[in-house]
Amino acid sequence: MLYPKEFDVIVVGGGHAGTEAALAAARMGCSTLLLTHNIETLGQMSCNPSIGGIGKGHLVKEVDALGGAMAIATDEAGIQFRILNGSKGPAVRATRAQADRILYKAAIRRRLENQPNLTLFQQAVDDLMVEGDRVVGAVTQVGIRFRGRAVVLTAGTFLDGRIHVGLENYQAGRAGDPPAVSLSARLKELKLPQGRLKTGTPPRLDGRTIDFSKCEAQPGDLDPVPVFSFMGDAGMHPQQVPCWITHTNERTHEIIRSGFDRSPMFTGKIEGVGPRYCPSVEDKINRFADKDSHQVFLEPEGLSTHEIYPNGISTSLPFDIQYALVRSMPGLENAHILRPGYAIEYDYFDPRGLKSSFETRAIQGLFFAGQINGTTGYEEAAAQGLFAGTNAALQCLGREPWLPARDQAYLGVLVDDLITKGVTEPYRMFTSRAEFRLQLREDNADLRLTEAGRRLGLVDDARWDAFSRKRDAIEREMQRLKSTWVNPRSLPAAESERVLGKAIEHEHNLADLLRRPNVRYADLVGMNGGAYASADVSRETLGPQFEPVVEQIEIGSKYAGYIERQKDEVQRAAYYENLKLPADLDYLQVTALSIEVRQKLSKHRPETLGMASRISGVTPAAISLLLVHLKKNR
Ligand code: FAD
Repeated sequence: MLYPKEFDVIVVGGGHAGTEAALAAARMGCSTLLLTHNIETLGQMSCNPSIGGIGKGHLVKEVDALGGAMAIATDEAGIQFRILNGSKGPAVRATRAQADRILYKAAIRRRLENQPNLTLFQQAVDDLMVEGDRVVGAVTQVGIRFRGRAVVLTAGTFLDGRIHVGLENYQAGRAGDPPAVSLSARLKELKLPQGRLKTGTPPRLDGRTIDFSKCEAQPGDLDPVPVFSFMGDAGMHPQQVPCWITHTNERTHEIIRSGFDRSPMFTGKIEGVGPRYCPSVEDKINRFADKDSHQVFLEPEGLSTHEIYPNGISTSLPFDIQYALVRSMPGLENAHILRPGYAIEYDYFDPRGLKSSFETRAIQGLFFAGQINGTTGYEEAAAQGLFAGTNAALQCLGREPWLPARDQAYLGVLVDDLITKGVTEPYRMFTSRAEFRLQLREDNADLRLTEAGRRLGLVDDARWDAFSRKRDAIEREMQRLKSTWVNPRSLPAAESERVLGKAIEHEHNLADLLRRPNVRYADLVGMNGGAYASADVSRETLGPQFEPVVEQIEIGSKYAGYIERQKDEVQRAAYYENLKLPADLDYLQVTALSIEVRQKLSKHRPETLGMASRISGVTPAAISLLLVHLKKNR
């Protein structure tokens, strides 16, 4: 049957990429259909119920700044929040939250069900409708044909997914969910470049069988409890609970080693490459043989369940080994395993086959986002989903794609890394991947992106009003600090010694004084009995925006020199970065380049010189030669 309504954008898959993609396209006014296996699993976290962390938290804040759902859903579902790297510089500070799995899913579903322009439909998609080289819709398992002008595919770990526990294996999308086998076969027919990757998860434990008195408590940050969304506040959080820490020991390691001969990883049953930064416990014991103990975090899965996620023992060893290794650790001597750990292998598509908008080069109107592009992680998936959903909507609206730059957003870094370098293992975000990380902070994600989000149609009035108030308050106050002067006559020596460490000897403006390392904004404007206080920047006038405004004023002042230097670097790099490469350039004829470089450029066909420079094997010398060639042939 052909479904009577034609949609602008069809999103396949209701995971983290799919939900953000569907919400974004619908927010932009496109009639959007979200087709997914099961409405009950919308926004499901396949692995640990935690959101954020270093690099990942940055992506979540960016998704939020663009009106996405992940941060605010985490605020509604988070049962433990922490600021990681709290004592380090603001560029690497990151928010991490432990979420109640059920509350999180409910928060995402509520947003999907209440989003205008969005239709939900539960069915497996088995086929794509393709006319010529353009996708025109999707066909479900029972033959319903949905027509759409663009399709965003976000199938996660489901494409030809195969679960491994020891030497046993079976087809699945993740534990308890069916694989997407027909769709995988169809994509193979379409000859899109692909490969196999794998990821894994630990066994889950029944908290009632754990002796927590033998474990170390790890509370979250409670004073204040961090907040994820720029529109959130701590009052949204449910009850906060601690996590716990136990350790592996020599006996655990012996048990693990005794299972190596039945490990699907070590016996070659699994061919896909796993995430190096998130190794299985057997991989850790094998690679770091000299370490006699590893930390294991016992993380509650929610407030209404006893289930515990033991973070650090992801494994695909046989169940008898899992059982013994769990029980070898302090506090877990009698632990009952509720669900076995496992590894999953799945198809992914080489993201170098995508344009910079995430539309596939091979099939017009078909966009890919999330784990299908070779990444790992909810946050990476959500960011890509929002990006692909936005660009699919822009295509339907006849507008140019939106391409955030590497100096504008981690999202720009993520997209650019994927399409230029591809992946050799599941890709996850780190702050070290961003060359301009001083300006790509969590705290200023809204100042970097919300205006762009508003222009795209992603940001609603409530967020725009709150953002505009905050931005204007920061700008006004920075100006006021620059134009407010103090001198030894107006500021008594005792007062300046108290706040500034030593008495001032000549005239300064307040902005200069705030640049000094130990001077805090509140102390500065509180000098002389509050003589320099602002009528605009107060808890009364700004409410929950007060602390974020003060934070921006402090960071903006103290790091001004570094940030300016970085901006200069960005400007200098920008010319070459954005220099468009002719679409018809025949690289094989550029004889100044080595054959290897010519072949790489010919295969990847980068859109800009900056993208070309990031293709592995394309050296700075090759870029200079290419530039000379371009100038000569202009
Ligand atoms: P998913 O969350 O997988 O969602 C895919 C969605 O698409 C599902 O709703 C599915 O039902 C739907 N779907 C698929 N095919 C079809 C179809 N044909 N028709 C209709 N609907 C379809 N990440 C980490 O960061 N760290 C980890 O340690 C980690 N471990 C993991 C362990 C396991 C076992 C698994 C399965 C995942 C793990 N992940 C981990 C990855 C994390 O779960 C994913 O990165 C993230 O969920 C990807 O989001 P996504 O939206 O791309 O896909």
